[in-house]
Amino acid sequence: FPGHMTKTLRLMEKEIRNVDCVLQILDARIPLSSLNPEIERITAGKPHLYVLNKADLADPEITKQWLAYFTSAGAGCIAMDSKQRGRATATKSLIEKELSALMERRRNRGMVGAAIRVMIVGIPNVGKSTFINKVAKKKSAKAGDRPGVTRGKQWITVDQGLELLDTPGILWPKFEDETIGLHLAFTGAVRDAIMDVETLACHLILLLAQRKPEALTARFKIIPEEGMSGWDLLEAGARKRGFLISGGEVDLERMANILLDEFRAGKMGRITLELPEDLEREEDDHGTA
Ligand code: GDP
Repeated sequence: FPGHMTKTLRLMEKEIRNVDCVLQILDARIPLSSLNPEIERITAGKPHLYVLNKADLADPEITKQWLAYFTSAGAGCIAMDSKQRGRATATKSLIEKELSALMERRRNRGMVGAAIRVMIVGIPNVGKSTFINKVAKKKSAKAGDRPGVTRGKQWITVDQGLELLDTPGILWPKFEDETIGLHLAFTGAVRDAIMDVETLACHLILLLAQRKPEALTARFKIIPEEGMSGWDLLEAGARKRGFLISGGEVDLERMANILLDEFRAGKMGRITLELPEDLEREEDDHGTA
């Protein structure tokens, strides 16, 4: 577990007392795997808001299911495409709406004018910087100009009513199961290779064959059939695209890299790898185990 992540967790633990709410940015394609349990542990006891970011890459129907899932669990949740222009005001009003009960309590206590302080957390590469830039727009001032602001944490004043605390992206010490590690690697959150690219692509193509076979057909002309392994599917794709090496063998490495690149860039369409019902199934499994 890299030292800087331990340091960040400690910093968050300290800083949590000074914030009104925690906004965890999730990847809408993998809301479960991108939800950091270490952050949840440290921030328990504060109101939570979740942003399903990169929603432009995720299946809109499944995003709706996730919104319902988080909302029914009592947390505020919004879907977001942080790269889309001109939605800063809408985003801010959503944050305020989610925190309206808190603001109401403050007004009742006469705390008029106190800015809402929101800690922004998330795994690396999930879009924290993009999100903050979008919400804060250009008129944002870095609160780092103020005295007493230490390196490694940063307050950004959106306006009089809202301040955001930016934190470095962190993962957690170990992924409890292989699926989480794989899903983080598919979306590019874990950059250090957890396995060779061909094996990784085999896992992805198999999952896509289950979740969205039509995307494999549309993009690679692969028609997944019952009983095909990840390697079979990868090979079929390589043949269709004509990725051959001398002797008529297929270039699986090239196919693997292209599959991962195209998935990450959203070229295969809007695909979500995790569904709320997976979670229920998991709970059922544990219940009957
Ligand atoms: P951070 O490490 O959490 O601060 O992530 P960044 O803000 O640097 O974003 C990581 C990558 O994701 C960049 O290439 C962004 O352009 C991209 N990104 C961020 N938000 C979105 C989004 O909502 N949709 C899409 N398609 N890409 C996004």
